[in-house]
Amino acid sequence: MLRETIRALAETKIAPFAAAVDEESRFPQEALDALVASDLHAVHVPEEYGGAGADALATVIVIEEVARACASSSLIPAVNKLGSLPVILSGSEELKRKYLGPLAKGDAMFSYALSEPDAGSDAAGMKTKAVRDGDFWVLNGVKRWITNAGVSEYYTVMAVTDPTKRSKGISAFVVEKSDEGVSFGAPEKKLGIKGSPTREVYLDNVRIPADRMIGEEGTGFATAMKTLDHTRITIAAQALGVAQGALDYAKGYVQERKQFGKPIADFQGIQFMLADMAMKLEAARQLTYAAAAKSQRVDGDLTFFGAAAKCFASDVAMEVTTDAVQLLGGYGYTRDYPVERMMRDAKITQIYEGTNQVQRIVMARNLP
Ligand SMILES: Cc1cc2nc3c(=O)[nH]c(=O)nc-3n(C[C@H](O)[C@H](O)[C@H](O)COP(=O)(O)OP(=O)(O)OC[C@H]3O[C@@H](n4cnc5c(N)ncnc54)[C@H](O)[C@@H]3O)c2cc1C
Repeated sequence: MLRETIRALAETKIAPFAAAVDEESRFPQEALDALVASDLHAVHVPEEYGGAGADALATVIVIEEVARACASSSLIPAVNKLGSLPVILSGSEELKRKYLGPLAKGDAMFSYALSEPDAGSDAAGMKTKAVRDGDFWVLNGVKRWITNAGVSEYYTVMAVTDPTKRSKGISAFVVEKSDEGVSFGAPEKKLGIKGSPTREVYLDNVRIPADRMIGEEGTGFATAMKTLDHTRITIAAQALGVAQGALDYAKGYVQERKQFGKPIADFQGIQFMLADMAMKLEAARQLTYAAAAKSQRVDGDLTFFGAAAKCFASDVAMEVTTDAVQLLGGYGYTRDYPVERMMRDAKITQIYEGTNQVQRIVMARNLP
């Protein structure tokens, strides 16, 4: 029922704008409005904080179905979870009450600010600092590649509070867009997910109350990594959705397109491609859903499964979308058809929330 609901919404209210959002590199406001109106913009927020209380699998299905229509728009529910999960996992009751309510209502979005210009895969090498000043912390630094920066009201920011302790000297904070000293860089000009703004976040003597720290001092990096164990599964969901969108389109196209006097779908070479695409996509889906169940139960092997689902599903999405372009021939290579957009959008799922090389490092360290 959830899938039917979100698919209908995505097809009528999100898909019609997907090409324009990509072409104009603009925020998918129509998608945000439609998702908020149906209470599907941040489904993971627990009911006690005014949310829909969706479990990890339901959240995956929402993101998957939005991504099938428009990958950029799927960053709305996905990053709302990424940004707020540190608060849900490690925040005080006061922080939860203060920040999850507006998120659940659709009054505010939440971003996640871990990466920096010189700290990507090696996120613990960050330089952003937070220095204690009485009942306040003062933050200085630059966060890079922050999804939905400028649009989001709230930011989970990881910063160094003790430079002698590397990852154990990092703490997490909630920073608000309206805090004095917060500003944003120009939107990045990207290959895909062009409707999702990616900007730098500048923190220039941002003075915030001490109770905005998420969890204890020095636990920020652990919270950031724990968050990714859960949210990599939402990136896998995006990958599934993009790949399914491309497969569905290609499946229809090959039945219409005629060469050598018959639909190209009649050629076994085409049928074998479609079979492989569907087989790999279904394998990725089963792994992702199994990982979502592990996320919900917080199983001991979640770290492996989160990395495996993200890595496998994103590699499948890249392959399936590239094959979809191939199935449309020259037409697939043009913006008159959606599959080239899907191929460009798929690429990011192999890069963010840890590149697929990093996922393989994570898997190797956590072999089941
Ligand atoms: C569109 C977009 C949105 C993003 N959104 C966010 C966000 O909202 N919040 C946030 O905090 N970050 C975000 N990121 C950042 C993203 O997570 C990083 O780009 C990613 O983790 C890689 O870091 P990097 O770009 O610095 O690459 P690097 O770490 O410099 O990596 C370069 C290459 O080296 C490889 N590599 C690095 N180390 C190793 C190793 N040990 N072994 C093998 N290979 C290695 C990498 O896999 C990669 O191929 C986003 C990025 C993009 C592009």
